[in-house]
Amino acid sequence: MKPIKTVKGWKKSKRSLFKVIPLKYRKALPKGKIPKNIKPELRRVFEYNPSQLYKLINEKRIRNPYIRRQSINMTSIFPKKKTYCNCGCGKKLTGKQRRWASKECIKFVGLIYGIVAGDSQVLRYLIGSYYGYYCVDCKCNQFKCTLELDHIFPVKWGGGIGWLSNYSFLCTSCHREKTNKDFGFSKK
Ligand SMILES: [Zn+2]
Ligand SMILES: [Zn+2]
Repeated sequence: MKPIKTVKGWKKSKRSLFKVIPLKYRKALPKGKIPKNIKPELRRVFEYNPSQLYKLINEKRIRNPYIRRQSINMTSIFPKKKTYCNCGCGKKLTGKQRRWASKECIKFVGLIYGIVAGDSQVLRYLIGSYYGYYCVDCKCNQFKCTLELDHIFPVKWGGGIGWLSNYSFLCTSCHREKTNKDFGFSKK
């Protein structure tokens, strides 16, 4: 992994998001590894291909990939449309429905929003549901150690707006070790 120079003032820089965070950290998770017997909205999130979403984010230049949390509104990532559900499921809106066709659609967009916004609660829930709650390095679980959410491609390099593929759980000591390695700090 090679560090890319940090750009201060992302909006001014007009750099493409695609040149900042490598594609593999903006890609859907491997389909074959999706756990069985999970909630339908989770399955939908794990199977979701975010490429269109990233195109939209990139075109609008609404985000700063050098920060952890993004302040965004739902309309900028799920633009308002009449007739059909705004989540992209293809269902028709009926009766009083203005945006979403079902409760499942609302749960789905909530999770997608959480990923893009960098909501750590949503991300922990999704990463835990996909991989399980344990450190990817030393395999200690949530009961034996504190699990921290790691940006595989660091925020400092522009990894702040990655997909689920840019996150994993690391315990406190493995996390410290990885951070030191990423930034070239030597061990004490
Ligand atoms: Zn829908
Ligand atoms: Zn560990």
